[in-house]
Amino acid sequence: MDRANVKGSTKIMPVNELNPPDKFIGIDAGHALPKPTPEAIANKIVLWKLPKGEIVERQRRIHDEVLHLSRSMDKANFSRIDSDDLRRMTMLYDREFFDSQLLPVIGRERLRFGFSSRMTRVAGKLVTHYAPRRKSLLPWKKTAVTDDRKFEMILSSTLLFQAFNDVDRPIVVTGLRCRDRLEAMQRVCEHEFVHLLEMFFWNDSSCSGGRFQGIANRFFGHTEHRHDLITQSERASRNFDVRVGSIVRFHHDGSVLSGWVNRITRRATVLVEDTRGERFNDGHRYLRFYVPLEKLELVQPRGIIGRSPR
Ligand SMILES: [Zn+2]
Repeated sequence: MDRANVKGSTKIMPVNELNPPDKFIGIDAGHALPKPTPEAIANKIVLWKLPKGEIVERQRRIHDEVLHLSRSMDKANFSRIDSDDLRRMTMLYDREFFDSQLLPVIGRERLRFGFSSRMTRVAGKLVTHYAPRRKSLLPWKKTAVTDDRKFEMILSSTLLFQAFNDVDRPIVVTGLRCRDRLEAMQRVCEHEFVHLLEMFFWNDSSCSGGRFQGIANRFFGHTEHRHDLITQSERASRNFDVRVGSIVRFHHDGSVLSGWVNRITRRATVLVEDTRGERFNDGHRYLRFYVPLEKLELVQPRGIIGRSPR
């Protein structure tokens, strides 16, 4: 959506006429201003701009504090992570970038945080849960409209743990080069944070949209909305030379089986020809095996690609 059409924004002021950039909502000559309305915050969000150096400094503070306060992470390339770390990180973003005004307006009790090891391509997602509409017992009486949405931020633990692990190449997330796993997590969290505030204020969000990219750039310095984290397929081809279509061998129940790699997610899906198996579009029957990449032995790098059941 175009920034000019943003719902709820009343007055557009030039960016340089805003409060000094050190405070999101601002303190007026030592007096705390009245509690901002959600509209006032939404207006600030579409206008606010921080200098680059200031963004980097605040991101650095969050990095250090998350690490310092965590009960799971022992280093920036952590090997354990907890949903509390993500919750705390989000709170710190609110403190550093929104004067701790944003999450109280959204409502902390509406927010859930978690990690998923099943997300093998998407680095993060923000799920909005809408409560089912309850039928009124007195249909002639209009029930008050309440906002009962809940928001859930989920990050892919698989993709985070694969960064700075066994594939050695620069990691770029949202256009920014990351120096460690925690920085990669911050970039994904920032991206989902923008989804969260867009969903809350405008009830719609798209990272390919102008408003999203404007916010992500002005607050967090993002120049891209994609990640370049290491996927299982890349890990498989770089470390084990295994890709979709490869012929591989592996041990199963004391015997050695060989078959085709048909899919690579957390593990490889290997199709082994067997008359008891499902019939595929090449006319043969295959059994499926889900094998960890490191258990595969490459027989032939590339055969026929993409078999599907028929
Ligand atoms: Zn997105």
